[in-house]
Amino acid sequence: MIDNNKPAPPSSGWRSERLGQLGSAIFAEVAQWKLEARQAGLDVIDLGIGSPDSAPSERVRQALSAETLRDDRYGYPDSRGSEAFRKQAALWLQAKFGVAVDAEQELLTLMGSQDGLAHLALAVANPGDIAIVPDPGYPIYAAGLALAGVQPYYVPLRAENNFMPDLAAIPEEVWHKATFILLNYPSNPVSAVADLAFFEQLVAVARRYQVLVVHDLAYSEMAFDGFRPPSILQVPGAKDIAVEFHSLSKSFNMAGSRIGFLAGNREAVGALRDLKANIDYGVFDAVQQAGIVALQEDLSGEGTPVAPMYEQRRNRFVEALRHEGWEVPSPKATMFLWAPLPALQRSGSWTARSISREMLRETGVAVIPGDAFGQEGEGYVRIALVESEDRLVEAAQRIGRFIRSLG
Ligand SMILES: *Cc1c(COP(=O)(O)O)cnc(C)c1O
Repeated sequence: MIDNNKPAPPSSGWRSERLGQLGSAIFAEVAQWKLEARQAGLDVIDLGIGSPDSAPSERVRQALSAETLRDDRYGYPDSRGSEAFRKQAALWLQAKFGVAVDAEQELLTLMGSQDGLAHLALAVANPGDIAIVPDPGYPIYAAGLALAGVQPYYVPLRAENNFMPDLAAIPEEVWHKATFILLNYPSNPVSAVADLAFFEQLVAVARRYQVLVVHDLAYSEMAFDGFRPPSILQVPGAKDIAVEFHSLSKSFNMAGSRIGFLAGNREAVGALRDLKANIDYGVFDAVQQAGIVALQEDLSGEGTPVAPMYEQRRNRFVEALRHEGWEVPSPKATMFLWAPLPALQRSGSWTARSISREMLRETGVAVIPGDAFGQEGEGYVRIALVESEDRLVEAAQRIGRFIRSLG
């Protein structure tokens, strides 16, 4: 018999205090509500998660399959990413945005952009530094700061300002102290888009204070109505002061085969490269080869763009919700609706969280309460277009009945 005579864990339960600062408890709560709804026999329509529901193109999957069968793909990869992938990513940036980056010094392959977003502050900032991040914002932004002991300065994104940050309202003192500012357009969760003029202003302000600009362009390929989201690197001289995250997750349905990249300022790219050389050995070479095929297909026009399907879903769903009496804004990009709560406006007693919970319990439709993304998210829910059009219309009808039941 094994004598399992281990001492009891300390009262902390072997969980660091830092861990307690990461993420929002709301996502775990919503997962619990979904479980309860399923146990209660409800047909759950899950519009909470932000994971694409489609597969990469057949050619990408075939490349992944063939590369996986090769016996020379199983050594440790180069932690910076293969030269072939970096060169292809640089070609893609050039062709799509007219942006020139050196694949050797100004581009780094990542295990998804999350990997880079989680580690960037550790690489470029010191404990006690300040970084400017959006509220509401994608949760890893604040978590990355917490990991590095960097203080967040939250810049509010509000409807009255089209969910753009008011750069002039950020105190001079914060600009002076900040190491970087991180923004994301088209944005998750607020689904706002930025034009090149905004990026020009941002680069000019950042240059004045020598603050690194970090832009997350995860939704570059998921824009509608002919809108083409710009890269911040299109601003002349942006590489002096800016880096940009790109992801193949949403653009090519490769969320599960983790790959993305960082491009731009060579010092910042180099810092993340040097940090990551201590943490991981990079992306599986077969996934990098599949990523090359995805980028090539996109450039040759042989791929299947992701935007049309989401645009169709957006059209059907927004129309269906409006038909049910819920006037939601129609997003120009991303897979999300950032929807103000109608019932909340009528009655002070609901919060985003309580109404999301009640709606799931009554209708089986799962959404994310806006305050999961920061306190400015109160009064909103994020709805992901990750089910078929028919299911989305069904969800809208159930939501309509729920809204009417509130009176
Ligand atoms: C989905 C998403 C990402 C992508 O993360 P990966 O790690 O590349 O899968 C990055 N930023 C935002 C805002 C996202 O919504």
